[in-house]
Amino acid sequence: MTSDLPLALVTGASRGIGAAVAHQLEPTHRVLLGGRDANALAAVAERLPGASPWQVDLTDFNALATRAAEITSLDVLVHSAGVADLGTIESAGVSAWRKNFEVNTLAVVELTRLLLPALRAARGHVVIINSGAGLNARAGWAPYAASKFAVRAFADALRAEEETLRVTSIYPGRTDTEMQQAIVADEGFDYDASRYLRPDSVATAVLTAVSASRDAHLTDLTLRPGPA
Ligand code: NAP
Repeated sequence: MTSDLPLALVTGASRGIGAAVAHQLEPTHRVLLGGRDANALAAVAERLPGASPWQVDLTDFNALATRAAEITSLDVLVHSAGVADLGTIESAGVSAWRKNFEVNTLAVVELTRLLLPALRAARGHVVIINSGAGLNARAGWAPYAASKFAVRAFADALRAEEETLRVTSIYPGRTDTEMQQAIVADEGFDYDASRYLRPDSVATAVLTAVSASRDAHLTDLTLRPGPA
């Protein structure tokens, strides 16, 4: 990948919202596709000439440090990787809480921290795909919601500390991805994709924040599925 286009790293780019974000950024950015599954990343990269796989398990913090050290200047960092391990407070054990916090919070914190010099060098933009659950916690969603509340606090503090960076939290409602299919199956409901946001619509919100002129800092964007 050699060109003068700005560089973007998108985590969770193997599928779902992250893959849609990669597709929308690729015409104007060189894109690093974050994910664990080499085949899935290669399949996304095949359709995007300006993109290449950036394979790492975000919870392997040693490997993450090695991969992050390869990046010296970064214009856009989109954190889309996430897990949703749901359960009531009575039923969810420590492992569910730990899994949500490891991927949705700690990996975002650590990857951003490792990339701060590269982001500062480019006066970069950090976008975090949060969730409606990061604004309101509902019954049965506490482990996931708490991890998203925590990453919202992280985003706000990052924005306050790093005055040269732009930091945007995006709060989508239910979006038609594999994550949502698993949630709806768990809830025992029928899956009707037409009732949910499309990943592309969330990606458009990311692009809106990233392409806003420098004087306009879009800090928080909430998206809900539109009326039928
Ligand atoms: P998804 O389809 O399940 O995709 C999840 C992505 O995260 C995959 O690319 C997966 O990579 C990656 N990932 C998970 N654990 C990882 C790890 N340890 N290391 C590296 N990558 C990892 O999910 P999605 O629906 O697109 O969700 C994207 C983001 O949007 C998440 O932060 C989610 O919380 C948020 N969100 C989703 C919805 C919704 O309704 N779908 C609503 C609001 C917010 P692999 O291919 O390697 O597994």
